[in-house]
Amino acid sequence: MDREQIRAIVREVIEAMFESSIPVGVSNRHVHLCQEDWDILFPNQAITKKSDLKQTGEFASEQTVTLVGPKGVIQNVRVLGPLRKQSQVEVSLTDARTLGVKPPIVLSGHLESAVEITLCTENGEVTKPICIVAKRHIHMSPEDAKRLHVIDGESVSVELQTPERTTVFSDVIIRAVPGFVLELHIDTDEANAANVQGTVMARIVQ
Ligand SMILES: [Zn+2]
Repeated sequence: MDREQIRAIVREVIEAMFESSIPVGVSNRHVHLCQEDWDILFPNQAITKKSDLKQTGEFASEQTVTLVGPKGVIQNVRVLGPLRKQSQVEVSLTDARTLGVKPPIVLSGHLESAVEITLCTENGEVTKPICIVAKRHIHMSPEDAKRLHVIDGESVSVELQTPERTTVFSDVIIRAVPGFVLELHIDTDEANAANVQGTVMARIVQ
């Protein structure tokens, strides 16, 4: 094989690696609120944007709440916007231990088995069965799904290459929806387990 051929192969491999790499986004504990719960916790206030998130239209707000469970309290939990039809509290398993609750590991929006949690602000409080640990997932457009040879709802494994802790996570659900931006979502426990720091890319493995 001559130099030119080797160069061509290397270029092809690098291109393939780049094309299949998925940016990793780490979700800290957060809260989504419906209008009714917002009005109790933040009466006569509008939700205000602190920073945009990677998914189009989603943002971190200036507002925070305190979570209260049977065994503990976590303060300064960020409210994400915009408001939703249903309130939802997403915590890590470490947070769940601190709070003294046993939330199910489910995809966002699947609150059938969610556990009760109390949300407080200086204005009021809400207690509802809306606490979950988010099941890890990959946001992507249907075009991305085609390119990566996966389908919406599929469970895949991903490898995160990180210094000293390259890790494969299984049970990662594909969420292929028009408008979604390609991003693997894991929580802070998962990120720490894999030593995710700074910009990290993931790839789907068989
Ligand atoms: Zn997500």
